[in-house]
Amino acid sequence: MIILKNAEQIECMKAAGRITGEALAAAGEAVKPGISTYELDTIIRKYIEKCGARPSFLGYDGFPGSACISVNDQVIHGIPSRETVLKDGDIVKIDVGAYYRGYHGDSANTFPVGNVSEEAQRLIDVTRESFYRGVSAIKKGARIGDIGSAIDSHVKENGFSVVRRYIGHGVGKELHEDPEVPNFGTPGRGPRLYSGMVIAIEPMVNAGSYEVKELKDGWTVVTCDGSLSAHYEHTVAITSNGVILMTDVSQSKI
Ligand code: MG
Ligand code: MG
Repeated sequence: MIILKNAEQIECMKAAGRITGEALAAAGEAVKPGISTYELDTIIRKYIEKCGARPSFLGYDGFPGSACISVNDQVIHGIPSRETVLKDGDIVKIDVGAYYRGYHGDSANTFPVGNVSEEAQRLIDVTRESFYRGVSAIKKGARIGDIGSAIDSHVKENGFSVVRRYIGHGVGKELHEDPEVPNFGTPGRGPRLYSGMVIAIEPMVNAGSYEVKELKDGWTVVTCDGSLSAHYEHTVAITSNGVILMTDVSQSKI
């Protein structure tokens, strides 16, 4: 069941979104060769707690970190670790959630570590662009399939592939709510988009094949062919006077 949010609830969610976005930005600024993913996780936890919020992912189904931090061919759900130290040329995905006054925010970004290859930078750029293509598909009368189709076609045009096994979702009092928001789809199909819907749009894009697998740690998802993967996510609110990127620190309306 899709739970629509009224104006007051969307205002509340903006606070959770802002904390999420700021925690992610703080971690992004700290990304450099030599830092461990555990240290990045600590920056995120401390920032969220300082705001009086709680990391949404900490303890989620037993997840041990405050954020999911995934390097290179790791797609999502990487476990922060003292042993995972970033090196020049890596790309790192940081996925953050904050729970504040009854609502969640959910956002992810991919950061280059030092100097990265041209292909890695292009993967990061195309992934971010595909998110904005998806957002642009949100129009009166549009459906969920329009978002996914816009994302997938931009990714395909650039020779990369969209992960199919993991998708976006509604966000609210629960971190994962209806509807499902795939990063692929058929225009005009799927649930209709209504004002009051708050959804996480989160393309996960592989440089090679879209196939992924979960490692034995029960969390980390990697590409099957070892190719690089990038991720970009914002919690997005659809309102009667525009689309708001709730986890963007500027909370710009589109
Ligand atoms: Mg996320
Ligand atoms: Mg999400």
